[in-house]
Amino acid sequence: MSTPIRLLIHGANGRMGRAVRRIAAEDARFEIAGVVSRSTPETRVVDGVPYFAASELGAVPGFDVAIDFSLPEAFDGILGECVKRGAGLVSGTTGIDDAQRAALDAASARIPLVWASNFSLGVALLHQLVETAATRLPGWDCDIVESHHVHKKDAPSGTALTLGAAAETGGAKPHYASLRAGDIVGEHLVQFTGQGERIELVHRATDRDIFARGAVHAAAWLQGRPAGRYRVADTLG
Ligand code: NAD
Repeated sequence: MSTPIRLLIHGANGRMGRAVRRIAAEDARFEIAGVVSRSTPETRVVDGVPYFAASELGAVPGFDVAIDFSLPEAFDGILGECVKRGAGLVSGTTGIDDAQRAALDAASARIPLVWASNFSLGVALLHQLVETAATRLPGWDCDIVESHHVHKKDAPSGTALTLGAAAETGGAKPHYASLRAGDIVGEHLVQFTGQGERIELVHRATDRDIFARGAVHAAAWLQGRPAGRYRVADTLG
């Protein structure tokens, strides 16, 4: 068997970080080199995996690739650490600003990375459908309605903005609406409205494991790739 990929999990105590931990722990391709959360962990080692606080990022053991589902204020730290160590980065952290996006592009000259607002296969396909609809229906109104659980901080969601970018590529000018309610994992409706007719393209995520599995898959796919910025669609098939 080949040497396992040494994985660092950043944002490890969050909803997504916990799902990534569980899925990666069951995947023989990986060895979890360490996990990082915001504050100092109560227990330093769990099942042989060392735990670190964000302030200790520089002290984590060697790793080949990091998976990051944290918050924008934590993003610069993990990006910088991956560049410093020449490790790959898979990040699903949303709400990052223009300077952070520029830093991602700059880092992609040094390390392989995938940043995506949504790691689901269905949403990767939805991007293509939205761009096609926008291209083929010039002059129709385009509205994007996204719904998430009440704990989600950024709005519109990163996925809504990425879908909006696909609509703009097709020539539409999207408007956004955001709902925060209960425990909704994630829903995106892209609506094209003409005179007397309407098309609704909807994606509903019912289990956040789809995002965690997509990120773990991307981390295995990144291993050994040259520096560059890759999309989720690149990691498929
Ligand atoms: P969450 O609030 O449950 O978890 C955030 C985690 O980040 C917490 O564990 C927190 O301790 C950690 N954190 C905060 N500051 C940190 C720091 N300085 N260093 C290290 N860790 C730090 O949120 P969540 O629901 O798990 O979502 C996390 C992120 O992933 C959000 O940006 C969310 O929008 C995004 N998300 C992306 C996808 C996708 O497919 N790309 C899917 C779901 C969620």
